[in-house]
Amino acid sequence: MELTEEAKAFLKRTGETSLGTQKSVKKIFQLTECSDQQLNAPSYRGSSGMFYVTQSSCEIVDELGRPNLWGKCHRQIWYSKNGYEREPIDSIGLRRMSYGVYIEDALQDNWKKGGIYVQNNIKIRAHEYNVSGEIDAIVFDHEANHPVIVEVKSGYGYTFNKNVFGKSNHLYQSGFPHRDYIMQVMWYLHLRKPIEKIHGDSPYALLYYIDRSDCRDKQFAIELSDGYTGRPAVMNQYGIEITPNPAYKIDNRACVRDVEIRPVQGITMERIIQRFASLSLKLESDEPPEREFYLRFPDEMAEDMFETGVLSRSKWNEHQKDKSAPVGDWKCLYCSFSASCYPEGVDTDLSADTNLANRLVRLTTQEGEQFIQTGKLPTVA
Ligand code: SF4
Repeated sequence: MELTEEAKAFLKRTGETSLGTQKSVKKIFQLTECSDQQLNAPSYRGSSGMFYVTQSSCEIVDELGRPNLWGKCHRQIWYSKNGYEREPIDSIGLRRMSYGVYIEDALQDNWKKGGIYVQNNIKIRAHEYNVSGEIDAIVFDHEANHPVIVEVKSGYGYTFNKNVFGKSNHLYQSGFPHRDYIMQVMWYLHLRKPIEKIHGDSPYALLYYIDRSDCRDKQFAIELSDGYTGRPAVMNQYGIEITPNPAYKIDNRACVRDVEIRPVQGITMERIIQRFASLSLKLESDEPPEREFYLRFPDEMAEDMFETGVLSRSKWNEHQKDKSAPVGDWKCLYCSFSASCYPEGVDTDLSADTNLANRLVRLTTQEGEQFIQTGKLPTVA
């Protein structure tokens, strides 16, 4: 049987070239091919027309004082809602995504056997904000006698290990959850009252991680400072709030500039809700909103990121050597609409993207506070 182009491409990626040219001598059922066809089969996915909690975002000032964005780029959502063609995901990408579901299913089985399972895939709707979502599971802490909302995430690789488990992570040495997932869980906490009416008070939620390469697991607990609103407190398994490492500059030899390390400023439930309100307005326009991430960091910013230990040496070298290299935010690198958004690639004119330019500076804590209040950078005398 002749291999599909996709199968040949896969074999090439794995370094296997001989099979692609072999002729079958016996008719063998091609389970791999069937599985791929099923993965790629078109399926109808109705939409409620609401936003998803996974589309959350929030303008913040990060740990090093740089105005930044947590979460989804509004321009990306605008392209998606306006029917722009997105780059297709290949079978390997689709299979990788299904792994998350397999893991959730297996975990739920395990929690059922353990007698702590309460419910799974709980749909939530907040009509007042036009936002919906689905909680992975609720388990029950019999000792504390209350339910616990759980969001399951899995991943693998260097960045996952660094971010979640803290390997070579000088900012959060014991790891920290993905920012987008923190906002997702904040929504569950914000909207949990109907769940509590049935199952009882649920003061915090858990983000449960599994490393798909070696099966290590890890959990983070998240609660909101005002119960149902406010800022998120991210805690380790002992209930201790995780804060960025104040000795970052000493611990990270790659950091040769002065930095003031502080907890992220501006991340609150109220500001996430406001961002959805501003998204609704942007979606009424025929023109896409401003870009919110860099396909390639401007030179000055890349240099500052390198000298504060945020940009790796290999990325910095690539940025220096090749003026057309897309060394920028990973959000743009993985964005399905980057060809539409950056039509000239890294040479695209960004002069109209004034909000993006806010990211070029690093602010003191006080300036950061001012920026969060006003949305404007402090004026330099
Ligand atoms: S390429 Fe970057 S800026 Fe453009 S839509 Fe995608 S994430 Fe947003």
